[in-house]
Amino acid sequence: MDYEQFFADKVAALKGEGRYRVFADLERAAGSFPLAKNHREPGETEVTVWCSNDYLGMGQNRIVLEAMHEALDKSGAGAGGTRNISGTNHYHVLLESELADLHQMEAGLIFTSGYVANLTTLSTIGAMLPDCVIVSDSLNHNSMIAGIRHSRAEKKIFAHNDLDDLRKTLDEIDAGRPIMIAFESVYSMDGDIAPIKEILDIADEYNALTFIDEVHAVGLYGENGAGVAEREGLMDRIDIIQGTLAKGFGVVGGYIAGSAALCDFIRSYGDGFIFSTAIPPAVAAGALASVRYVRAHNELRELHQERAARLKSRLTEEGIPVMPSVSHIVPVLVADPVLCKQASDELLYKHNIYVQPINYPTVPRGTERLRFTPTPLHNDAVMDEMVAALCQVWTQLGLKAAA
Ligand SMILES: *Cc1c(COP(=O)(O)O)cnc(C)c1O
Repeated sequence: MDYEQFFADKVAALKGEGRYRVFADLERAAGSFPLAKNHREPGETEVTVWCSNDYLGMGQNRIVLEAMHEALDKSGAGAGGTRNISGTNHYHVLLESELADLHQMEAGLIFTSGYVANLTTLSTIGAMLPDCVIVSDSLNHNSMIAGIRHSRAEKKIFAHNDLDDLRKTLDEIDAGRPIMIAFESVYSMDGDIAPIKEILDIADEYNALTFIDEVHAVGLYGENGAGVAEREGLMDRIDIIQGTLAKGFGVVGGYIAGSAALCDFIRSYGDGFIFSTAIPPAVAAGALASVRYVRAHNELRELHQERAARLKSRLTEEGIPVMPSVSHIVPVLVADPVLCKQASDELLYKHNIYVQPINYPTVPRGTERLRFTPTPLHNDAVMDEMVAALCQVWTQLGLKAAA
């Protein structure tokens, strides 16, 4: 077997399909977001970033940076171990209690990322609950799918946000078996939101545990930024809320919030929690400062929503096909992988506007799109500039107008 040839062929196949991924070599500039430097041959250019998941610009927030500097100077670079073996720092303890309080739960548990939080929590529960069935939304994130698969529990998939199909799926399960329903609140590629209340009502009928991924909602929805479940007054009905510290909160790390018994169970049995070094104290301190700040600044959330609504209406006015989204995510349909990449390249290289093409397998084939994420820091001037450039690229490439 020619291993090198095998690897190269696999990559060539992606290129042939037009969905080979090229990273933009960016240098973020704290204080200037959404502007960033793009390192590309032959020189550097300044670009406006339109696809960041640092949804509120918390990655450059002064108070967050100060907290990180202070903790770095006080505690040094790394945590020094896994949580069990010398890695638990006071900032971790404070952060977990802040997150529990944010979600009005008994306890919180932090992980090195949201991905690891999903993988570990779902796999541990699925593996250990005897004869458990995991019922999973068809558009759940890869990290949830990985957790479910790793659990080796029986998995049943229901059609995305489809309550009738959820009920039908649950009806097929023998009475008495433990069930966990796993879903998200905001789905990040379409910007739609799950019917959380209805799912919880059904879960009650079938005595199922509920696991919700609020990664694209924490910091962004609800009076305190605890997510869509907070906005809808449903947090106390959910068993496990999972979130990230990397998107709305602008730092890195993931977590769950739930009952004391549940969090203690995952802390004690979850491989991805036990066997990996804790996040650095400075990261925990930054995340803690960010959660506290975001909780107290609802006006950030209001401005965030206003910016997203404004962008949707500007693009619609121009006949650009914005996909229906009820959230802060503004997906624009291109429906072809090659054209999608071309549109993104034109915007980047000719107009210094950075929006990454979203292709299969992140989204289904034929629904390739540009996914815009306006933040409170995208003012009218940069928005006008971007819309004008996008219109020009749309005409130039002969892309479809809105129906
Ligand atoms: C990004 C993402 C995650 C993973 O979170 P990280 O903190 O980036 O690892 C989990 N779920 C969803 C839906 C995501 O989009």
